[in-house]
Amino acid sequence: MSISKSFYRPKKAQWSYWERELKWDRTLASYFSYRPLESNYDFVVVGAGFTGLSAVYHLAKRHPRAKIALIDRYLPPLGASTRNAGFACIGTVGEFIADSQLEQPECVWDRMHERWQGLTLLRSILGDQVIGYESLGGHELFTEEEEFERVSGYLASCNTALKQRTGLDQWYNLTRINGYNAIQMPREGQLQPAMAWSGFAHLCEQMGIHLAWGRKLVDMTEKMDGVCLTVEEGAKGSHQQFRSSSVILATNAFSKSIDRDISVSPCRGLVLLTKALDSQPWQGTFHAQQGYIYFRNVGTDRLLLGGARHVDFSGETTTQFGVNTEIKAFLLKYMKEILVIDPSEVEFEWSGIMGFTPDKNPVIRTELSGNIALAVGLSGMGVALSAELGRKAAEFF
Ligand SMILES: Cc1cc2nc3c(=O)[nH]c(=O)nc-3n(C[C@H](O)[C@H](O)[C@H](O)COP(=O)(O)OP(=O)(O)OC[C@H]3O[C@@H](n4cnc5c(N)ncnc54)[C@H](O)[C@@H]3O)c2cc1C
Repeated sequence: MSISKSFYRPKKAQWSYWERELKWDRTLASYFSYRPLESNYDFVVVGAGFTGLSAVYHLAKRHPRAKIALIDRYLPPLGASTRNAGFACIGTVGEFIADSQLEQPECVWDRMHERWQGLTLLRSILGDQVIGYESLGGHELFTEEEEFERVSGYLASCNTALKQRTGLDQWYNLTRINGYNAIQMPREGQLQPAMAWSGFAHLCEQMGIHLAWGRKLVDMTEKMDGVCLTVEEGAKGSHQQFRSSSVILATNAFSKSIDRDISVSPCRGLVLLTKALDSQPWQGTFHAQQGYIYFRNVGTDRLLLGGARHVDFSGETTTQFGVNTEIKAFLLKYMKEILVIDPSEVEFEWSGIMGFTPDKNPVIRTELSGNIALAVGLSGMGVALSAELGRKAAEFF
């Protein structure tokens, strides 16, 4: 059956630049084909973002003979994994200070360490070429002297804490860049999210995992001998039931639509990307305003700028994709005044949906029966965390 006739497809106008760059239509059609669902699986993972891919990959490694399916309501998946900014990062000093208001500093450093472990794992599974990884370093940028002084005061303790956990030193150094005070993060990198996603999905398919696109989970009931799942099939809109001994939910921002008690709130993020510029002075990854604003080079001549959800928290608490005009105006002003780049050069815009928990720690647990596990709520910088979270979820079984 032709792939284009068989699945829900996000409209081309909604694609991220990463998806366009990969010529999504052709890539996906050559990689994936339609296969009907079987009636019984050993493991089913719901949600084919980075977390779900990592979960099925590690399940297949742990149980080489098991029958495993990964289902997603869309092809390509429609959440955050192919629509993010592609920062391969673990967190800034400014963000550490903000997060320490929510929980103990030790817990925040542990989460930064987990992000580092996740990135290392992702790179080791797929290789840097497949994920489009580049090690250009990163900066936290300060436009106000007082804020720079305040944040710099925590730099030494962050370096010490991360050295204790990783054995590596010099995570953060004071510097100046393009006329601004900054904290340099030499270990920070960047990747091409859609390349990383399709490389991972292709690997999982080659391992014999059934990638079942265009199936939306609409009901899940625990039975004595496992879990009964009901999915809606995209192209036909019909319902189908099947069974699995165990299930992992990796539906991140969309988890509440499956179980209202999962404490993950959706949070939309906006990304803007310029055309190729004659001069693009911001090479590497950059964070500002406690991580709410981020920008980076794409190639050497485009600038990506995103974030600013702090401008309208309530407006961005949504699972609907779209552009918040207030946030867009804020970002364009920032581009003009701070980055000194002409906002009329913006060529692409897209949104993605993250899932946040109250303390920014992901939900990773099994339900009482032990047959269903949750791996959701990555709360930003989830590219880094996802490989590790999926691995942990697989270890429940
Ligand atoms: C704009 C933006 C910029 C970001 N920038 C960065 C960054 O630079 N660096 C970084 O580390 N992180 C970044 N993130 C965060 C990161 O992208 C996410 O944390 C990460 O991709 C989450 O992966 P996931 O697999 O858990 O969720 P997702 O990628 O959202 O996957 C969830 C999947 O579940 C599927 N699904 C949902 N409900 C159902 C259902 N009922 N049935 C079947 N399937 C279902 C969805 O279709 C989706 O494919 C950014 C996020 C956004 C939105």
